[in-house]
Amino acid sequence: MRIGVLALQGDFALHAEALRRVGVEAVEVRKPAELEAVDGLIIPGGESTTLLKLMEAWGFVPALEKFHAQGRPIFGTCAGLIVLAREVLNPPQFSLGLIDVTVERNAYGRQRESFETEGEAALGREPVPIKMVFIRAPRIRRVGPAVTPLAGHRGECVMAREGSVLAAAFHPELTDDPAVHRYFAGMVEAAHPC
Ligand code: GLN
Repeated sequence: MRIGVLALQGDFALHAEALRRVGVEAVEVRKPAELEAVDGLIIPGGESTTLLKLMEAWGFVPALEKFHAQGRPIFGTCAGLIVLAREVLNPPQFSLGLIDVTVERNAYGRQRESFETEGEAALGREPVPIKMVFIRAPRIRRVGPAVTPLAGHRGECVMAREGSVLAAAFHPELTDDPAVHRYFAGMVEAAHPC
């Protein structure tokens, strides 16, 4: 099993390291053709407007729609969540619409309002404690009926899943906590058992 990390912009290298720490082969993906060789994909945090421009320029929009239609799992963190959402506010911008949530960009405030906290996530039979780092993070303002909230912060959903798509407003790759990457690796393994 091999998991790709979209390496156009943002903190992709840290995601690759986090995957390797949970024993998964990680490869950086810079061209749509490279998606053929991976069983799942992480879209990292960064700046979603820039990320979208690069994705559009390189032809990643149709390629990711196909990747998703084939049932291969995708995990977006922060800007990656924004790119995957059904609807984006502040300001509205194009998104792939692969998870039925509405997100509001930069809704926790400015860079200096970035924070690290701990919470609980429904990643197995029992809730597990997880560490979460929020950096100019989006807020999930609406969760569609087919979406399962997996973690909360102050009563708001900050991580959710719809089928093969996982999305988090925070950065698990900036902590030493492997729980979320291990969970995503499990999703990829389940989708591709051989
Ligand atoms: N503020 C960024 C955006 O709106 C996301 C920040 C992040 O990915 N850490 O695109």
